[in-house]
Amino acid sequence: MKVALIGVGQAGGKITERLARFDAEMGYGAVQGALAVNSAEPDLRSLQHVDTQLIGADRVNGHGVGGDNELGTEVMQSDIQQVLGSLDGRVTSKAEAVFVVAGLGGGTGSGGAPVLVHHLQRVYDVPVYALGVLPGRNEGTLYQANAGRSLKTIIREADSTLLVDNDAWHEQGESVEGAFETINERIAQRVGLLFASGEAVEGVGESSVTSKTSRTRGGAAAASVVDSSEVINTLRAGGIAALGYATELASEDSAENINTAMSVSRQALLTGTSLPDATTADSALLVVAGEPERIPRKGVERARRWLEDETGSMEVRGGDFPLESDRLGALVLLGGAERSDRIQQFMERAREAKKAQEREDRSSDPAEQFADDRLENLF
Ligand code: GDP
Repeated sequence: MKVALIGVGQAGGKITERLARFDAEMGYGAVQGALAVNSAEPDLRSLQHVDTQLIGADRVNGHGVGGDNELGTEVMQSDIQQVLGSLDGRVTSKAEAVFVVAGLGGGTGSGGAPVLVHHLQRVYDVPVYALGVLPGRNEGTLYQANAGRSLKTIIREADSTLLVDNDAWHEQGESVEGAFETINERIAQRVGLLFASGEAVEGVGESSVTSKTSRTRGGAAAASVVDSSEVINTLRAGGIAALGYATELASEDSAENINTAMSVSRQALLTGTSLPDATTADSALLVVAGEPERIPRKGVERARRWLEDETGSMEVRGGDFPLESDRLGALVLLGGAERSDRIQQFMERAREAKKAQEREDRSSDPAEQFADDRLENLF
């Protein structure tokens, strides 16, 4: 899937740079352009692989907005024309989607990303998604409250919001800095693979895959590789999306990998996910990555059916991502995953942080779930 990336704030800029670098190093060619936007000049100066745009210079003089996400909203609103101008030519006719990337707990990204998504929706015909980082449990009250309001607003604006919980993709006992490095690296690999999966036909595994339609290999029907429309259709549910990933060593003989395909798919959803405990979803996409010879059709089909049971969705798409490796990987994308306990807990934490006392709304309708006014929209 060809994408344009816009990182807002410090975390947004760093993750966008990682994604652009990963895509370039792997030669996938999915990232069409990458821009980092910030009100803090030093954060922009530390980025080398993306274009940059400073905002709010007249208000904060390049010093950032601190943790004030309302100010983040204001400076993005004031300078939106410059940001849209910087994007001209980057969201070319080739981009099939735009991703706005931000840490939701800070100031510039938290406040600015929802505004940017809002304006991008008015300018571009392609889907505008958010890639948002939720603060970990120990990140403090201001981060939780900021992220609550930012999430509520960005869900209203974006076609879908892919969430990465800062508690999810790092090892226990890492320092905060070390954990951020690990998380950013994992986001780059996993989200990068998701972008690239729709690109498989052109760039990757040309020796073994030449057509994206079903093909036959050794007499066994093979699945098609993933197409970007399948990613877009999976995200069509709106609300919140989550991404899971896991790999295992695989045998050279696909017949011996049936259990491996099941087990990597289970791990991807249950332990390798960007949003712990998110298993209920409106739709899902299972991408099995590996050498075509190692991918067991029966195992993949079994995993896909298991995913239907586990998510409660009848809309589970599947496809291969051919790459050279002695491992088999599973990438699981969930769409419409806002009914997860993790999100409920997070919104509760955000409300508590704002000293709201009422019980949370457990409605299953995403619009309803974010419709209550105990957390104010940012704009
Ligand atoms: P901003 O520059 O004002 O938008 O704020 P930041 O991006 O620095 O922080 C916003 C949130 O992102 C907070 O919850 C931080 O803990 C988190 N964060 C900051 N840097 C990183 C990073 O490099 N990686 C990840 N995963 N999270 C980060």
